[in-house]
Amino acid sequence: MIRRLTCPICEKELPVEVDGDAAIFPFCSPQCKSADLYRWMNGSYAVDEQLTPERVMEEIAKQELPPEFDV
Ligand SMILES: [Zn+2]
Repeated sequence: MIRRLTCPICEKELPVEVDGDAAIFPFCSPQCKSADLYRWMNGSYAVDEQLTPERVMEEIAKQELPPEFDV
């Protein structure tokens, strides 16, 4: 049995339509992809603070993001 990949942001299983060729791969949604980009932009991966998906989305909501992150 093949175990489906999970989204690194929200840890849900990826939808079946998301495979290696999908634009949002390896994330489950454009929101999660943006959340990941946001974390990189802010260097959050180097920070000890626990960043939950909800927390990341909150931060995104507070910020004015460039159009390519406006999903
Ligand atoms: Zn996700």
